[in-house]
Amino acid sequence: MIYFISDLHLSPQVPGVTRIFLEFLGGRARTAGHLYILGDLFEVWPGDDCIDDAENTFDRAIVDALHGLTDSGVRLSVMHGNRDFLLGEEFAARSGANLLPDPFILSVPAWQFVLSHGDALCTDDKDYQAFRAQVRDPAWRLAFLNKPLKERKAIAAALRQQSENSKREKLKQAQSLMDLNPGATDDFLREHGYATFIHGHTHRPAKHDHMVDGIHVERWVMSDWHENRGEYLCWNGEQLSREALR
Ligand code: MN
Repeated sequence: MIYFISDLHLSPQVPGVTRIFLEFLGGRARTAGHLYILGDLFEVWPGDDCIDDAENTFDRAIVDALHGLTDSGVRLSVMHGNRDFLLGEEFAARSGANLLPDPFILSVPAWQFVLSHGDALCTDDKDYQAFRAQVRDPAWRLAFLNKPLKERKAIAAALRQQSENSKREKLKQAQSLMDLNPGATDDFLREHGYATFIHGHTHRPAKHDHMVDGIHVERWVMSDWHENRGEYLCWNGEQLSREALR
C-alpha cells in the first residue's frame, strides 16, 4: 500500500498534530510500503542545521521519528512545500527520506499518478509566484543558508507573518486567488499524460473530476492536519481512499 500526506505544518505550537503524526509514524504508517509527504510537513524549516539546534529539539524529534519509520522498512519520499522549501540533503540522510522533484510522476502497476505540492499552479497569485521564484533561486538559497541560524529563524518568522497577512487580504478579494488556476491545471494534466493528480497546499480537501481533451482525470486534494484530526490517502493497488486519523 502507498500512503500520501501533506500540509501538517508541524511546529511546537500544534502539539495535537504532532501527537497524531508521531502515533501515525509508529503505527498505521508501518503498514505502508511507501509513504509520500507532499509538502509543508513543517510550518517552517530554516535549514537542515536546525536538526541539531540545542535550543529547540522539536525538529530533531520529528526527524528521529521519520528515521524510525524508514528503519522499519517503509520507504519515505518527501516533496518541498512553500513552507519547508529548504529541506535538504542532511534532512534526507538523517530521516532516510529521498527528496522528490515537484512535480513527480509516480508509476505503479496499472496506474499513473502525478504528485505536486500544488502551489506552482496557483498562478493567479502573482505576489506569491514572485516569492516562489526568488526562494527557488540557487543564489538566494546559498546567501540565505550562509546566515546564522538565529537570523534565518527571525527572517522565516517575519516572512510567515507577511504571508498570513497577505492571505487574509487576498481572501477578502477573492477565494479563487488562493486556489489552482483552472487553465494552468488543465495544461498540467495534459502535460502529465492525464495521470491522476494528487496535491495539497490549498487546504481544501476534495476530489475533482476534470474533463481534459475528452479524457476524465481525477484530482485529489489532500486535507491539512488539525489539532484533533489528520488524514492520509491510501492507494491499495486498485483505488484511492481517504482515511482519517485522530
Ligand atoms: Mn502549502
